[in-house]
Amino acid sequence: MIDLLETPPYCPSPFAYTRRPTRVVQVGDVGIGGDNPIRVQSMTTPATTDVAATVAQIERLVAAGCEIVRITVPSSADAEALPRIRAGMKERALRVPLVADIHFSPQAALLAVPYVEKVRINPGNFADKKRFAVREYSDEQYNAELERLQEKLTPLIHACAPRRVALRIGTNHGSLSDRILNRYGDTPLGMVESALEFVRICRRLDFHDIILSMKASHTMVAIQAYRLLAARMDAEGMDYPFHLGVTEAGDGEDGRIKSAIGIGALLDDGIGDTVRVSLTEDPVAEIPVARALVQPYNERSLPVTSPALSGVRETRRPYDYRRRPAAAVSIGGVTCGGNAPIRVENLLSAPPADEATARRALEILTRSAAGADTPCEILEVVVSRPRQVDDMERLVDLAAELAPDLAITARPTAAFLHAEAHGAFARLVRRVQRLAFRVHAPLNEDGLLKRGVGLDLAGMVGRPICWVLTPAAPGTHADVAAHLAVDLLEHTRRAGLPHTQVALEPGFAPGGVGAYRLLAERLAAADLHPSLILVDRPSAGEENGSLAVGARLGSLLCDGMGDAVRVEIRNARGERSDAPADLHRARELAYTILQGTRVRVVKTEFISCPSCGRTMFDLEETTRRIKERTGHLKGLKIAIMGCVVNGPGEMADADFGYVGWGPGKVALFVGHEMVAKDIDLAHADERLVQLIKDHGRWVEPA
Ligand code: SF4
Repeated sequence: MIDLLETPPYCPSPFAYTRRPTRVVQVGDVGIGGDNPIRVQSMTTPATTDVAATVAQIERLVAAGCEIVRITVPSSADAEALPRIRAGMKERALRVPLVADIHFSPQAALLAVPYVEKVRINPGNFADKKRFAVREYSDEQYNAELERLQEKLTPLIHACAPRRVALRIGTNHGSLSDRILNRYGDTPLGMVESALEFVRICRRLDFHDIILSMKASHTMVAIQAYRLLAARMDAEGMDYPFHLGVTEAGDGEDGRIKSAIGIGALLDDGIGDTVRVSLTEDPVAEIPVARALVQPYNERSLPVTSPALSGVRETRRPYDYRRRPAAAVSIGGVTCGGNAPIRVENLLSAPPADEATARRALEILTRSAAGADTPCEILEVVVSRPRQVDDMERLVDLAAELAPDLAITARPTAAFLHAEAHGAFARLVRRVQRLAFRVHAPLNEDGLLKRGVGLDLAGMVGRPICWVLTPAAPGTHADVAAHLAVDLLEHTRRAGLPHTQVALEPGFAPGGVGAYRLLAERLAAADLHPSLILVDRPSAGEENGSLAVGARLGSLLCDGMGDAVRVEIRNARGERSDAPADLHRARELAYTILQGTRVRVVKTEFISCPSCGRTMFDLEETTRRIKERTGHLKGLKIAIMGCVVNGPGEMADADFGYVGWGPGKVALFVGHEMVAKDIDLAHADERLVQLIKDHGRWVEPA
């Protein structure tokens, strides 16, 4: 069995971006991998035999910027529709490459090859039927299975090779074969082994037009599987490009953020040559999301120059989750770090100047959407002038009345500390539950530490301190901040203030993910274990900003880093925004990212497929209805899948499944077990609710 701790790194440095080198695989005119741009693709949703609808959707996808289009080919009849789709595309001068999506039917794959530029097969079901059987395989039996695989795959390779039709070996977490599950479990390692079995057969047949994917709806599983695949392939001298995706991501902001986390984290790791965002929406809506994710990497200039990083080594575990050890800190009644839930913080750029505004801000910060448990837990308020201490005291008193669980903390500015202010500072310290200090890195000789904080440390005993490090100049390298953090923590520890936290503001080179990784490793090397607050900033009203934040924070959370998350919204002028809508958005986005990584679950998890030509009901409308009925069931995982052929396999670890059984018919699942089938769509929602009740998982909505 492979030891994950002994597995070599998947990239040259976790602190700086380098794109994983790959060979180029041509998919028609579109090159994938090498120095080619990271390509954007999607999949059609009408029945493949509905040629007119399929061609019309391809046209819309291409107009939106889709570079490769996949079409489901469940049967020979669908394969036979492909030449007519080609003819329809020719009439409309559409030159986009097509991919045939194959499950369970090697025959359909063979029929499709002459009409497509790529075939996607799922190693979990190309040659195996999924039976969820538990069985021990001896090595002899296992090898006999591999021989059977080779027999099934060889005709397809022989058909693809002379036409230069590429092959995607597309592993899905939820649909691993029983053989793989029994030997490796339902794990990233199982996914990797599943793909490598097929890759090795291709290589024996001297076929190399291969692209690989490792999709899962659990973002952390997908990230770990792709990384592990990259490491294993490097070790075996393989350089095939990767197709990235988070499968069954769902719809709306949840689906977008989940995709941003999984795909964005990997792109930032330098992994990925083509992406598909799977949303339970019109596939055209996937394209702008995918383009926004790949754009920064396609437009990337030369790598950031890095100072020599001596004395730092990677202790992060990239292939399995382990939360970074951090000392727990009590901030009022809120524990942060240790084993406490990862907290959500908000920032106010000033204490509200009147009671009505303060009440409104507290309401916005602590009111949660129906069914969700998503209040702000720690509020940091910037205090710039001594007279704002009156406003802070009023805010603290109001919070005690309106939001007793909220920890209120202050960030006195250098201007506040320099303005005499000893009396004001002492009042502030007494009333708040943490003091935060923003420090420029590198530290200016005139810095806060010498002129302000150093004088008053003794008065702060018992109060946690948060060091917020910000770049003194654009592009300051994160190692400067990491060394400064070590100095500051040692300084505060010597002063008898051991309860410290650290946050990095955006702007350090080489970027948010690398900066926090470097900080964590420098702290670990100095035997310092403060809790870390992850801070990031999208621009107000800008969707792409949320995706970028989702990618950066999600990547760090999946690495086990971060004890609190703070999203700060800026307005169009780049200033911090205290507008109610922006405070609300900042908090909700932080929780959506936590839920998207599953490091903290605050609402129902919906796993819904993007739909395709196999779908048996209106997936968007059905998903909306089921969300409405069950969206208050915090922590429950409900899958809504379009077909029973792939749905049960691909819904992975869902607690309950609502799956298309036939036209207008539904089957219900508890875990992987089908408990009812052939239910009319008209009664299926009610039956699902009853099933949840029967299993004791229902609570009445508040
Ligand atoms: S589960 Fe959904 S996307 Fe997957 S094959 Fe079935 S209908 Fe298509």
